[in-house]
Amino acid sequence: MKKVYLDNAATTPIRQEVIDEMVKVMQLEYGNPSSTHSIGRSAKAIIESSRKTIAKLLHCQASEILFTSSATEATNWILRSAVRDFGIKRIITSKIEHHATLYTIQALEKEFNIVVDYVKTLSDGNLDYAHLEELLKSEMSTLVSLMHVNNETGVINDCKRIGELCRENKALFHCDTVQSIGKTEISLSELNIDFLVASAHKFHGPKGVGFAFVKKGFVLQPILFGGEQEKGWRAGTESVHQIAGMAKALELSYLHLDEERKYIEELKSYCFEQLKANFPAVKQNGITTFYNILNVLLPFDETKTAMILFNLDIKGIAVSRGSACQSGSQKPSHVLVEMITGENLKKPSLRISFSHYNTKEDIDILITCLKEI
Ligand code: PLP
Repeated sequence: MKKVYLDNAATTPIRQEVIDEMVKVMQLEYGNPSSTHSIGRSAKAIIESSRKTIAKLLHCQASEILFTSSATEATNWILRSAVRDFGIKRIITSKIEHHATLYTIQALEKEFNIVVDYVKTLSDGNLDYAHLEELLKSEMSTLVSLMHVNNETGVINDCKRIGELCRENKALFHCDTVQSIGKTEISLSELNIDFLVASAHKFHGPKGVGFAFVKKGFVLQPILFGGEQEKGWRAGTESVHQIAGMAKALELSYLHLDEERKYIEELKSYCFEQLKANFPAVKQNGITTFYNILNVLLPFDETKTAMILFNLDIKGIAVSRGSACQSGSQKPSHVLVEMITGENLKKPSLRISFSHYNTKEDIDILITCLKEI
């Protein structure tokens, strides 16, 4: 049975060149980057050149990139620091952020008694920017935490506009760019973003490694104590091969961006056309969406909702969240709940997410299997 992987917003296959690079580093660069001898210095050099590569691609300074184990860790670190050390008394976010952000903010709310305001989400998945503007008028010291591309619907937030609103109202801006880094150009010299987080496994790099961009001038306090790694802000021996793999993956993503984006855009259009041709009442959840994510509400009976992911899975097809009800569970997606109402929420929604490794044949297989459900 051919496996069809259409869940690239969950994670992506690693590029072969990235695997080769990581194997090379594991075999040859086994030194501890904190050791002062040449073998250690050589490993340290790999880390610093990876930092430079990433900084150059994002148009920021190398000293503004800090390596972490994941975007989740980076978000926890930044938001906690903002409240504990930068005197932030209020966080503005939205109810459709990733749980890495939402649950961190909820924990901080309990622990530090901060105010949390949620920007309204419109039924098309976009933010209500007028509401954000209104919320920002308060005098309270504020951090805004809003993602770039939503991981369930693909809806794109206007980071330039949010950054400008934050600047005008003296608020800090933390942006989760996990779904967009490596898939679109991001120039930190042009956007007013103070903190950004990213994760290598979303751009064909390894799992268990990510990074934070922390704008020059901000000093984060550690959440892990120990050695002097990452300016002493994040102790623990660096995972040299993962960091090297992440830098390589980001470099290749930007090198091939134009051709891969065009290819994926065409696949997404083809997929939606085929869905419409076979299920004319299908609807897309969200508008102004990113080119690799298609979230659709299928005009199926609600009795099919609970088992749809399972039924596709046994046919070798991996698609994912976006279901109003997750496979086997009746808990609705916290994102779709903000956008869809009534009967439609009970019907199955699917998140289909693409990479350049997908083909039209994958989509044809998906459609055939959906027709059999
Ligand atoms: N933010 C978004 C938008 C995501 O899609 C994910 C991963 O699913 C994360 C954060 C968490 O990233 P990580 O897997 O590096 O913890």
